[in-house]
Amino acid sequence: MTTLQQITSCMDAYDPEALAVDKARAVVRAFLTPVSTNEKVAVRSALGRVLGEDIISTLDVPAHDNSAMDGYALRHADLAPEGESVLRLAGSAFAGRQFEGTVGKGECVRIMTGAVMPDGADTVVIQEIVQTDGDQVRIPAGQKRGQNRRLAGEDLAAGKPVLRTGQPVGPPELGLIASLGLAEVTVRRRLRVAFFSTGDELASVGSALKQGEVYDSNRYTLYGMLSRLNCDLIDMGVVRDDPASLEHALKTAATDADAIITSGGVSVGEADFMRELLGKLGEVVFWKIAMKPGRPMAFGRIAHAGNAAHFFGLPGNPVAVMVTFYQFVREALLALSGRSGDCAPPLLPVPCTAAIRKNPGRTEFQRGTLSRNDQGQWSVSPTGAQGSGVLRSMSEANCFIVLEHARGTVKPGELVQVQLFDGLI
Ligand code: AMP
Ligand code: MG
Repeated sequence: MTTLQQITSCMDAYDPEALAVDKARAVVRAFLTPVSTNEKVAVRSALGRVLGEDIISTLDVPAHDNSAMDGYALRHADLAPEGESVLRLAGSAFAGRQFEGTVGKGECVRIMTGAVMPDGADTVVIQEIVQTDGDQVRIPAGQKRGQNRRLAGEDLAAGKPVLRTGQPVGPPELGLIASLGLAEVTVRRRLRVAFFSTGDELASVGSALKQGEVYDSNRYTLYGMLSRLNCDLIDMGVVRDDPASLEHALKTAATDADAIITSGGVSVGEADFMRELLGKLGEVVFWKIAMKPGRPMAFGRIAHAGNAAHFFGLPGNPVAVMVTFYQFVREALLALSGRSGDCAPPLLPVPCTAAIRKNPGRTEFQRGTLSRNDQGQWSVSPTGAQGSGVLRSMSEANCFIVLEHARGTVKPGELVQVQLFDGLI
C-alpha cells in the first residue's frame, strides 16, 4: 500500500505549510482506496448507488423496427418519383397489436406511434399531410425512404455494454436497466462514514447555552452534506478536547467506518495532541492549505482492530467546514464509493458585478449570488460578509466564486469562475 510519505515525496513543491489547493487534491486522490465489495439490490434501490459491474444488453431495445409517428406505413418504392401517389389502405397497426400480413405493392397500413413496422413497409408518412377517401390514401410528394421509422436496437443493442462499472445510477440509468427487463442490479456497498465535532466550547442543540459556549452546528451541516452523497452515516456526537476521549472516538470510528470526518481541533493552537494521537493510529498529515476560508486541514488513514479508515480533519469554523468538504471531501467520498471518472463540479465563467480584493498566492472561495438581468444575461455578485464563521453567507449564496491561486484583485465586470451549489449541495 502506498504511503502518504511516498506520494508527497514525488511531488514538486510539496509544502505542507503552504499547500496549493490543486496539490492537496492530488495527494488526496492518489491516496484513496475505493470500496470494492458488491451487493445486489432491487432496481429502484439502486438510485444514487454506484454500479458494481458492467451491464451488457441481453436484448435489442426496441426489439423491432417501429413507427416514430402516427401515420401510414408504406413501401417507399411504390411512391411516384414526382407528384403525389395514391395507395390502398390494407389494415392498421397499433402499439402492442401488429398488422399480421405483408404490405403489398401499392398498399399502405394505418400505423400508430410505437407500433411494429409491418412486413414489407420501410417508411412512415405522418397523418397530418395525408388525405383519405374510403380506402384511398393520398400521399404528397417529397417523402424520404426510412423516415419516421425507429430501428430495432437503436437504443440498446444486444451484446453491447450499456452501463459500466463505477457509473452512478441516476434516473436515466434506472430506466435503461428497466428497459432490459432486469429486476435487480449489482452495486457497490454503501460507504460508511463516521463523523464527530471536537471542542470544549460546544453545546448540543436542546440544551441551555453556558457562558462561552456555542452550539455544535457543524455536525448538522456535515449531516446534510453527507446525506446527499448516499453514505451510511455514523454520528458520533461531540468529543471533548482531551486525549483520552479523542483516542476512544478515533479508535471506535476506525473500527466501524471507511471514512472519518471531524471538525475542529486541527488549527495550530489545538493540533498538537491530535497530531500525536493520529500518528500513533496511522499516517495523517497536517496541512496549511493556501486557501480562504479553510486553511488548516488534516488528511490520512488510521487503523484499529483490523479495519482502516480514511481520515479528514476539517477546520472548526462553520464556513471553512463547508468549503473544505466541497473542495476535497465530496470528491474523495464519491471516489471511495467506487465512482469512476471526474466527479468535480464544473466551473463556469461569468462577469462579476463588484470589485473583490484579493492577493495572489491562495485560492479563495467567496460566496456569490448568480442572477440574470432583464436582458437574460447572467452575472455574479459576492454576498456580504465573507468571514469563515458567517454561515449565513452560504445560505444566502447560490454559488462559490472561485478565485484562482495566482489571481489578484477582481475589477467590476471581470470574468470569474463560479461553481453552482445546485448539484453540489
Ligand atoms: P477550532 O478549529 O477547533 O479552533 O475552531 C475554530 C472555530 O470554530 C471556533 O471559534 C469554534 O468555536 C468554531 N467551531 C468549532 N467547532 C464547531 C462546531 N462543531 N459548531 C460550530 N462552531 C464550531
Ligand atoms: Mg476546537
